[in-house]
Amino acid sequence: MTYHTTMSRLRQLDSRFERIFGTLLGLGPLRLHRFGHDHDHDEPASDVEADVLAEVRERAGDVHERLSHEHDVFAVELAGSTGGGKTMLIERLIERADEGERIGVVVGDVTGEDDAERLRAHGVAVENINTGRECHLDPMVVAEALDGFDLEELDTLYIENVGNMVCPADFPLGANRRVLVVSTTEGDDVVRKHPMLVQTADVVVVNKVDLADAVGTSVERIRSDVGAVSPETPMLEIAAKTGQGIDGVVDVLDESRTEHHSHRTAPPHHGDDTESNHTGDSGH
Ligand code: MG
Repeated sequence: MTYHTTMSRLRQLDSRFERIFGTLLGLGPLRLHRFGHDHDHDEPASDVEADVLAEVRERAGDVHERLSHEHDVFAVELAGSTGGGKTMLIERLIERADEGERIGVVVGDVTGEDDAERLRAHGVAVENINTGRECHLDPMVVAEALDGFDLEELDTLYIENVGNMVCPADFPLGANRRVLVVSTTEGDDVVRKHPMLVQTADVVVVNKVDLADAVGTSVERIRSDVGAVSPETPMLEIAAKTGQGIDGVVDVLDESRTEHHSHRTAPPHHGDDTESNHTGDSGH
């Protein structure tokens, strides 16, 4: 990790720390400046980071509990770069939804309502989150957004994260599945450059495969990188604009939904309540 990356990540965690342990617990902003140049370098930043990330995982577990167990909502997060096609994939999934399936979408963007309006045009319930300077959603803002829905009236919730291939890796949101959308237009090194986010994904969807040749991207190289970085993670090829491959995404999500339902109705065993590796309530 470069110095710059380390510092910006720690600053981000610093502000997160203030919000979690300060504002949310009613203590007011703590104004911690642990990571400033003129402060004690003896203080192990990693402890703070560990505390913050543990808190984030706990909050993600709360979201999971609320959605999955209290209201039986199947939640799918979509992460990936700006322009990779997350919003369009959600639009395609909405178009292919079963008759009567009640869908909600939480949309995170740094600013604006562009994606929210696109999705509202499909007649689904949408809550927009503007994150300002933050490059990712976190389970606390998702929990606030959930207040805007009648969760008893939802079957499926899509959560579109802020367009970013780095920041969301450390911030589970409590969804049942995280779908990572990458695009051939990002180059065929996109997966090997962002292994951490890939490793948190349950499915990698490569979008714009119809443009691969035009932009000189090898989908096979992306596939072999996914295999190297995260061997268990399935990879699907789609072109959201034309609809190519969308049925495959529907099938994978339907399979997950079925697992989710049988899991809910199955007797508890070995105390593991986790749907996947990012729900945040499992401790791994
Ligand atoms: Mg979008």
